[in-house]
Amino acid sequence: MTIMKFRKEFFYFEPYVHINHQNDKALLYNTFTNKYEILNNKILLHQIQQNIQNHTNGFFLNSPLEKEICCELRNNYFGEIITINPDEVPPFVLPTEFLKVEKNKEFLETAPYRNISENIISCLFELDLYIDNPYQDDDIYCKQLPSVYFPTSEKEKGFTDFFSQIEVLCNSSNLNKINIFISRSNVENLHFLNELKNKLDHNKLVLHFNIENAINYTQIDDDLTKLVYYSISFHSTENKIKKFNFNRANNFKIVFLIEDEEQISIADEIVSTYKIIDYDYKPLFNGNNIDLFKDCVFLDEESILSEKINKNQIFRNKEINAIDFGRIVIFNDGQYCTNNLLPPLGNVENDDVRQILNNCISSESSTWFLTRNNVSICKDCIYNQLCPPISNYEHVIGKFNLCNIS
Ligand code: SF4
Repeated sequence: MTIMKFRKEFFYFEPYVHINHQNDKALLYNTFTNKYEILNNKILLHQIQQNIQNHTNGFFLNSPLEKEICCELRNNYFGEIITINPDEVPPFVLPTEFLKVEKNKEFLETAPYRNISENIISCLFELDLYIDNPYQDDDIYCKQLPSVYFPTSEKEKGFTDFFSQIEVLCNSSNLNKINIFISRSNVENLHFLNELKNKLDHNKLVLHFNIENAINYTQIDDDLTKLVYYSISFHSTENKIKKFNFNRANNFKIVFLIEDEEQISIADEIVSTYKIIDYDYKPLFNGNNIDLFKDCVFLDEESILSEKINKNQIFRNKEINAIDFGRIVIFNDGQYCTNNLLPPLGNVENDDVRQILNNCISSESSTWFLTRNNVSICKDCIYNQLCPPISNYEHVIGKFNLCNIS
């Protein structure tokens, strides 16, 4: 006589479901359908916790309530229920948090940099070169956009001494953007810029300057991308607006620096009067306009969850700061960092390219790995892998949770 073994129901999460368990709740986010559930059932939270600890992805259903919740999850494509013998090994389902880059990072942190492969230079994606400005300035405007607000200096200095170092970085295989920040009025006779223009693919070069200096840039036919910053507070005289021919070339983009609602209206008016086609608005923190940020920048639950986000983006948000990763900022005195608002990591005059990149990976002042799951408040939040990466706004305002979520 065959004895039928008692079969039990087993629930597993689909691998495309993102799970974030914090304290007394867990977010389940379906990266295919963009739907989400917030679980607060203690037994299921315990099961999820066990899954995370054991790198598994499912559990046996032990009560009608568990079954009811899991049926609901199955109906919304978060998982599946199957029946198996309790003494059988459950099917292997790739845990949703399977991939990690931390192991590589640990290796890079402990290995002497001389042992690190030449490939390290492939981590470089973006270079920010500040041609005119010394590193330190406490003024809140200069901190955010030194090339826009710093007083101009006509004397070209820096970069020529360590041009060969910069050139090696500029020729890195994965580098796709070189931002050149210029605060001088004499924009066109820059020896360094001309050298770069001769040697590099123009598609990679982006010039950044304020509207006063852009007026002096007369090479209308060159194919470089140019971002022209227009601060309503600092540059709002009719004269300057009139002098700048907004439509002289397609590759000029105007970035309006906005400090309050009224300035948005002024910018709108300029756009309509001068028929500007390519433009953007950038809120600027002046120390007293947090309300503008609450309206324009702060996130709420609805905006976070309405953004369709895929597994790769979620994984990336967990492991790296996608805004800063792969970026090196170099000032004209040679000091370099990964974000212009944070302390320098060294000087390109003293460090070779591999040492520079090693510092960007391993230094505590580097922002390459500054993710929300390792800063206060955000690290305990179920949305920390869905929220956009930490940006300069958080550094300037001095708090990481720019959101309306308590
Ligand atoms: S606390 Fe941090 S992670 Fe959570 S919603 Fe706010 S900004 Fe995002």
